[in-house]
Amino acid sequence: MNQFRFSRRPDIGDKVRVSFEFFPPKTDEMEARLWDTVTRLEPLKPKFVSVTYGAGGSTRERTARTVKRILNETTLTPAAHMTCVDAARDQVDAVVREFADMGVTRFVALRGDPAAGVGTAYRPHPDGYANGAELVGAMKSAGDFDISVSAYPEKHPESPDFATDFDMLKRKADNGATRAITQFFFDNDLYERYVERARRAGIYIPIVPGILPVHNFTQVANFSARCGALVPAWLAERFEGLQNDPQTHALVASAVAAEQVLDLVERGVSDFHFYTMNRADLVFAICHMIGIRSHETEAAGSAAA
Ligand code: FAD
Repeated sequence: MNQFRFSRRPDIGDKVRVSFEFFPPKTDEMEARLWDTVTRLEPLKPKFVSVTYGAGGSTRERTARTVKRILNETTLTPAAHMTCVDAARDQVDAVVREFADMGVTRFVALRGDPAAGVGTAYRPHPDGYANGAELVGAMKSAGDFDISVSAYPEKHPESPDFATDFDMLKRKADNGATRAITQFFFDNDLYERYVERARRAGIYIPIVPGILPVHNFTQVANFSARCGALVPAWLAERFEGLQNDPQTHALVASAVAAEQVLDLVERGVSDFHFYTMNRADLVFAICHMIGIRSHETEAAGSAAA
């Protein structure tokens, strides 16, 4: 990728839509950081903001509390993540009803990781939904929800091959998923090839790239190895030697993510999902670079002119 290829195009911001992902906080300190982040990102008017669901439903209460607060205290539209791990169908259905009663209309429906940890064999609950496709089908018959599902440009690590992966994605789309959101990736060619193959496999829902700003390269590299995402050598080189230099690390991270997003815009992509890690600064900077401005920023700009 050539970083000088992109000039600031004032019309990009009109064409690009974003969504943001948060995780439910564990402590008061984390809660305060999340709400600072939400407050900073809210004026960017994302299409929706999603709140993850911990392994085995471990964050059910915290996910619900976070979603409720977003509904009650912000103008944002929340999407609740749901997983099937270690839960019978009626338990999952009850949680979906609980969210729907709260006013939630959007969900991210997932199978979830094995309860014994990533890398172990997944065993569905004997009375549970076996995978994302079954969950989508059940949710869609419970209400006319907007349902996002997962997609894996580098293949899900448990999948024997891409054909199995596309088969699952097609089942999720056929059962009523509105869009797929991808696992994060750093090589845009992989994403583009994946979307082309999905279309050839008869999958026509939008496949929204999931973008992970690199807050901490070492952590991202470890996490990528576990979830089967490739860390290209050029990316490692960019962050080389910056472990103890957080300021330069943040500047490089924002340039890397902006480059990735701008390249995807050039390739015709208009929707982006940001894994925020409950931190605003990098996401805010990247959105600014692709022309998504808060009303406060615009107002300050015109006052200065
Ligand atoms: P599915 O869509 O059901 O399956 C994914 C792929 O795995 C399939 O394509 C299939 O090929 C393969 N597969 C599934 N089951 C089997 C099997 N039994 N044997 C062999 N292959 C199989 N996790 C959380 O815990 N909470 C979250 O909030 C959360 N949010 C996420 C959001 C996004 C956008 C993404 C991409 C992932 C998220 N995850 C989350 C991680 C996700 O739960 C894991 O990747 C999990 O391992 C698979 O869930 P899924 O819904 O993708 O599975």
